[in-house]
Amino acid sequence: MSELVQEQQGKALHILETVFGYSSFRGQQADIVQHVVQGGDALVLMPTGGGKSLCYQVPALVRDGVGVVVSPLIALMQDQVDALAEVGVRAAFLNSTQTFDEAMQIERRVRSGDIDLLYVAPERLMTPRCLELLEAAHIALFAIDEAHCVSQWGHDFRPEYIKLSVLHERFPNVPRIALTATADQQTREEIIHRLQLEDARQFVSSFDRPNIRYQIVEKANGRKQLLDFIESEHADDAGVVYCLSRKKVEETAEFLKQSGINALPYHAGMDYAKRTANQARFLREDKIVMVATIAFGMGIDKPDVRFVAHLDLPKSIEGYYQETGRAGRDGLPANAWMAYGLQDVVQQRRMISESEADETFKRVLGVKLDAMLGLCETLHCRRVRLLDYFGQHGQQACGNCDICLTPPVSFDGTLMAQKLLSTVYRVEQRFAAGHVLDVLRGIDGERVKQWRHDQLSVFGIGSEYGEAEWRAVLRQVIALGLLTVDHENYSSLKLTEEAKPVLRGEQKIQLRQYQKPVKPKRSSSSSKSNYVETDLSTEEQTIFDKLRWWRVETARKHNVPAYVIFHDATMREIAKAKPSSLDDLRGVTGVGEKKLETYGAEIISLIREISG
Ligand code: ADP
Ligand code: ZN
Repeated sequence: MSELVQEQQGKALHILETVFGYSSFRGQQADIVQHVVQGGDALVLMPTGGGKSLCYQVPALVRDGVGVVVSPLIALMQDQVDALAEVGVRAAFLNSTQTFDEAMQIERRVRSGDIDLLYVAPERLMTPRCLELLEAAHIALFAIDEAHCVSQWGHDFRPEYIKLSVLHERFPNVPRIALTATADQQTREEIIHRLQLEDARQFVSSFDRPNIRYQIVEKANGRKQLLDFIESEHADDAGVVYCLSRKKVEETAEFLKQSGINALPYHAGMDYAKRTANQARFLREDKIVMVATIAFGMGIDKPDVRFVAHLDLPKSIEGYYQETGRAGRDGLPANAWMAYGLQDVVQQRRMISESEADETFKRVLGVKLDAMLGLCETLHCRRVRLLDYFGQHGQQACGNCDICLTPPVSFDGTLMAQKLLSTVYRVEQRFAAGHVLDVLRGIDGERVKQWRHDQLSVFGIGSEYGEAEWRAVLRQVIALGLLTVDHENYSSLKLTEEAKPVLRGEQKIQLRQYQKPVKPKRSSSSSKSNYVETDLSTEEQTIFDKLRWWRVETARKHNVPAYVIFHDATMREIAKAKPSSLDDLRGVTGVGEKKLETYGAEIISLIREISG
């Protein structure tokens, strides 16, 4: 290793420790930082919470000049800049929320080399004025955050991102680092191609999020199950609940609010001011549950979201992964919970068949949905399945998903499937699920009598099971592709080619045993979600709670989100370490020199007060 490289490495580590308060780089961070510091281009694929920001922030500080960060998330730039100011980094942004005078002032500071990190929206960057400014300045690097926005297939597509290839042409000697948490191969190739990153080194991290516990439960009464889940496991936490439609968002938020949960709605149909206000509250206050459509989420880098719940099935595993990934960025335990039922399958299939897309695209959507259903119906570890989908094969069962924790019982479901399929056949494939199940179970309601279906040989052949059991079988049979729902004809059930060998007894199928949804047990201690704080002693918990109060106050005074002051993880460590001097406090993860200077004395005296 050359002396220069060694010196640069030392410098990077020093910045990590003194500015950010971390003792070591994580995963591939060290390699990425070193590569970019030396002027190389990089493409970084890292899951949410993996630590992408440091990958460009540290090199920007090690190298001379200003690091230019391109980001589409204008609404979050203020918080990002505030967070950097808190650790003593000179940061600023240029975007459309500023007055001309404010922008002028920032430009002046950029020219005089007075800024280390500059956040810019892509459309702003592309203006001749901005490009001239950057040509006159000394640039350390370009970081292109949320790089998947160049992908025309993804749902975050931003046309102005495509123009970013200009950077390469106008600033050939400035290193570029593109970052994204989107895992699929197609997006990766599109980023490389569109941003001309063919020569960039690729850093692909594992997409596993070990601290997230995946749970998919059978939907009975979704809203009620959600409430039970929140009350029993997350009474004191911030979380996100995803729903498919705007109407359902409104209704669910209202329902939670009436049940005493601090819930707010968010969807694209809301008035802009109201929507932004709700987002700001979610970021700044503790313990808010955001009920939202998928319009909510990109760039929400609140680290202490303790759960993400889905009341409706996502369209694809990519979507599911991205949405659940917003939980637990701080590395502490978090839950990804979903309630899923027959209606979801029917609804999603209908949305595809009714969409305006062409046939090829519909087929792609169908394949993606099938993969998602496969994840819901799997009898094996969900994480293994998830990682497999992203090309990370051969993983061990995780021990931290519902399947690993309470393995489902599978059974030979051939006979049940045959009974169901025969009934569909006997009613001439002209009836929807409710009617088919009535006939199967021998319920002779008016409609059944009217059609004389109580006269059929299949009438009542499934009377030994209840409706919920049969619905579970029906859902799995649809997920397996033996039956389809014909949306053009009253949602009637139709047999597919795949059903034939099962009906003829040539093919057996395994199903998972229906499990009655059980109400999760309430945690023993008071209303506290002891989910996260279990390993703190009573005294430590007292300190932690006091610190939380102190943080709320301080955040309000500084007008920044609470996590910008300290993360929960840092405060938990403080509660455990009970530092009695600034030197003790210096060793805590997340406490850099600037924060030590600003808050150290307050914290020490606060702890002294409590510990007496
Ligand atoms: P991403 O942008 O990849 O989602 P962030 O950059 O927001 O992730 O980092 C996620 C969390 O991990 C942040 O709270 C950050 O402070 C923390 N973090 C990142 N790198 C380290 C490290 N080397 N040591 C300790 N904490 C880290
Ligand atoms: Zn598992």
